[in-house]
Amino acid sequence: MARGHFIGNVFRQGQSNTYLDCIDPATGEVFDSVAAGNAEDIDVAVKAARQAFEGGWRSTTGSQRGTILREIASSIVANRDRLAEIETRDNGKPLPESYIDVDTIAQIFEMYAGMAEDLDKKGEEVVELPGDAMKTTVAFRPIGVVGMITPWNFPLEQFTWKVAPALAAGCCAVVKPSEFTSLSSLELADIIAQTSLPAGVLNVVTGLGSEAGDALVRHPGVNKISFTGSTATGKRIMSAAAEDLKRVSLELGGKNPLIVFDDVDLDAAVQWVAFGAFVNQGQVCTASSRLLVHQNIADRFLKRLTELAEGIRVGAGFVDGVKMGPLVSETQFKKVMSYIEAGRNAGAALLTGGDRPEGLDAGYFIAPTVFANVTPDMAIWTEEIFGPVLSVMTFKDEDEAVRLSNDTPYGLAAAVLSKDRERAERVADALDAGITWQNCSNMVVIQAPWGGVKKSGMGRELGRWGLESFLEPKQKTRWMVDGSLGWYALPAAA
Ligand code: NAD
Repeated sequence: MARGHFIGNVFRQGQSNTYLDCIDPATGEVFDSVAAGNAEDIDVAVKAARQAFEGGWRSTTGSQRGTILREIASSIVANRDRLAEIETRDNGKPLPESYIDVDTIAQIFEMYAGMAEDLDKKGEEVVELPGDAMKTTVAFRPIGVVGMITPWNFPLEQFTWKVAPALAAGCCAVVKPSEFTSLSSLELADIIAQTSLPAGVLNVVTGLGSEAGDALVRHPGVNKISFTGSTATGKRIMSAAAEDLKRVSLELGGKNPLIVFDDVDLDAAVQWVAFGAFVNQGQVCTASSRLLVHQNIADRFLKRLTELAEGIRVGAGFVDGVKMGPLVSETQFKKVMSYIEAGRNAGAALLTGGDRPEGLDAGYFIAPTVFANVTPDMAIWTEEIFGPVLSVMTFKDEDEAVRLSNDTPYGLAAAVLSKDRERAERVADALDAGITWQNCSNMVVIQAPWGGVKKSGMGRELGRWGLESFLEPKQKTRWMVDGSLGWYALPAAA
């Protein structure tokens, strides 16, 4: 089945009539295809979005938008199976994890429905002024048409983290999903098309980043680009958007540290470390891919961790009991394998993994991999691998742990495990990261801000920060007394 773009609430074939394969990462076989969109497709979609925005969506009340967002949330719940299955087929992740993603996106639409309604209740914000001559308020207006570019690791979540708050704010959207995992965005758009959302408010154009993505970033009818993906692409997007000063928000990569002190409960800590490193096959922007373990417990800790990693069941996402699926694509498989090779060549000690698990000869499977004896100059320590590869160093005291953690151009997430809650608090405060976790790792709190410092991006998603990123404050100042400022002398009246 060749899938078209979703524009103005209908599916249409692309202008170029060329398609991209959708590959099942568990087998390497083609099972579907999506249109390879180009600049003309983007133009049609942006015009549809602009028309919907100017034609009424921008003037809807928050409560009207909230009602529609709740309808979308209910439709997602009603189509749980369909969405979860397509996500696992296209991305490879274990089916129970796709269900978690589907349930979470329904909650996110509900959350932003509430925030849209609150916009009406809050009304304009009054600015306190020293005198009575002026009264100033601030209204919050939707930014306009937003281009959204998403990655392949959490396709439904990334779509929703952007679309739900943008619609709540009164914006219209053109989404360009990753060329590796476009299907769930199209399915979700189809489900949303059955609700009362007006045509053109949401559009999805599939295709390559260098064609459809680039055309979206450069289109003059787009007011903002909301991007999630690699730091390299983020830089390219920011400089292209600068051409006509489009707003940008960037959720980029990370090389996130997790510090384990020597007072932890070993079993709980090993669980958090494995979860942080291997969930979603390690293809998580906040994956805890750098482990710093206190030298007093390092040997015991790594032995437990190796045992646990070797017990993780790897296989196709649809198989019961599987906890790790394949990587998303052959490209990603090769990239991760080349980092493993680099780690070996640099002299790191491979404790476990490092190759395909036994018996999984087709598809893009890599066993959970742990490297010890890593040094700060090794690529496996400094670069984002985006796969199930954990690099380990030891430390002797708190200062060293913080210094090694912060010694990176990234600043997305960081975690610390210690029974001493004061120490955990102190260390978390010292870590340069947009998201910190104490005695846990990789917990996503949808009500809280999500995003990075340093080269991990700019702007925040989720919570009220996600909504605010699609609103422009508009100052409204009124002169409250009779007459003018009297700055110039008035000429005598004729
Ligand atoms: P990527 O940068 O290769 O691609 C992301 C998206 O950008 C895709 O849709 C792609 O088609 C598009 N794109 C590529 N080149 C483009 C261009 N020149 N112009 C416009 N669009 C373009 O990233 P990926 O491999 O899909 O995703 C993995 C990366 O995403 C990792 O670095 C990861 O850390 C990051 N990520 C970050 C977060 C976060 O919240 N910070 C979440 C998920 C993933």
